[in-house]
Amino acid sequence: MIPAPPRPGPAGRRYDRAVPERTIWVIFGPPGSGKGTQAEQLTSALGVPHVSTGDLLRTETESGTPLGAEVAPVLAAGELVPDDLMERVLERRLARPDAGRGAILDGYPRTLAQARSLDTRLASAGCRVPAVIVLDVDQDTLVERLLQRAGEQHRADDNRAAIAERMAEYHDRTAPVLDYYRARDVPVLEIDGTAGIDAVHERILRALASRALIAAR
Ligand code: AMP
Repeated sequence: MIPAPPRPGPAGRRYDRAVPERTIWVIFGPPGSGKGTQAEQLTSALGVPHVSTGDLLRTETESGTPLGAEVAPVLAAGELVPDDLMERVLERRLARPDAGRGAILDGYPRTLAQARSLDTRLASAGCRVPAVIVLDVDQDTLVERLLQRAGEQHRADDNRAAIAERMAEYHDRTAPVLDYYRARDVPVLEIDGTAGIDAVHERILRALASRALIAAR
């Protein structure tokens, strides 16, 4: 891949990236792994917004849109919403001006079908996923974090039954997506996500820099 020339990043920072002009990064991890938090932390280093498909769907349900009403029971049960519906919501979000240079996707792709569909759309636009960031966190810590979040945020799917369903979805349907990317030589950066927010953020930056995906720090 031809390295993109250095160009100013947000707030005038310069950053070099061996990636195309429009870049769709993907962050992966089981529920409770902190991928939303880490994606948010990465926005300034990568110069693109954090796009969480779970947040997009929750906004629909909270705003009481017809789509929100349709997906609310699916979310509450911890199941996956249908691919075509998910794609429509995502396309709409990625068409917004702030995503003109790309996005950090959190929660998508979640199935092999979604990964293939994303690749097809990116290929037709002449770009690809430059790397997948995966947060590894042990099961006990995940459940502990999710139950704590249940007390703080009152998410409909942070109860034991829905948590178990979401974990099962992750292991059965989402984890295989990593093999899909490995088979296509997309770097899969596995990061130990058990430390504090800043320490995990540093680990991610180091992993990206070691692959020359961002400038060395
Ligand atoms: P998250 O905030 O990523 O944990 O997502 C919360 C819920 O939104 C999931 O349990 C699914 O019901 C739904 N969801 C989010 N992303 C997707 C996706 N890519 N495909 C299908 N359902 C999704």
